[in-house]
Amino acid sequence: MKIICVGRNYADHAKELKNELPSEPVLFMKPKSAMLLPHKPLYYPEFTDDLHYECELVIRICKNGKYIQERFAHKYYDAITLGIDFTARDIQRQQQQKGLPWEIAKAFDGSAAVGEMRPVNLEDDLSNLSFSLEKNGEIVQEGNTADMIFSVRRIIEYASNFFTLNIGDLIFTGTPAGVGPVNVHDKLDAYLMGERVLSVEVR
Ligand code: ZN
Repeated sequence: MKIICVGRNYADHAKELKNELPSEPVLFMKPKSAMLLPHKPLYYPEFTDDLHYECELVIRICKNGKYIQERFAHKYYDAITLGIDFTARDIQRQQQQKGLPWEIAKAFDGSAAVGEMRPVNLEDDLSNLSFSLEKNGEIVQEGNTADMIFSVRRIIEYASNFFTLNIGDLIFTGTPAGVGPVNVHDKLDAYLMGERVLSVEVR
């Protein structure tokens, strides 16, 4: 399986990182080894001093496909949850300044925390889902998929032009504003439509 991620998909987040709004989805990947298994802690990586959380809606692909049209895209997912796209922000900045790829800042072991899956209906276009992230019991991020620059269906259409989607692949759909650092002993809890679906401890 593979994890496809979308960068800069919420205007308020693009602004906080001083990025321009994209005219097409910005995609990057995480390998299977990036998955943080449920109930496992994230060990703070040695190579960074600025580890950030990014809470995102995650889509699970249920059907193989390539060149998927937006109007058929809803047939290709069957479940959703929240995930945390852990990012070594210092490394990402260094890589960006040098014009180099940012995988080492984004795709390292444990960088893709994935919550418990919730099934979705075929008609559901996932365009009005609220979610939030708490750090040590305080809300640090609040988002709604209505504010996405590119919808889930558009992301599927665009991504499948380049990458065949396979059953079990995951798509991280981008983070709203409010990203910030985590430290050892922090606890992160993510809520989808008010229900906790993910909990991660940093050690
Ligand atoms: Zn992200």
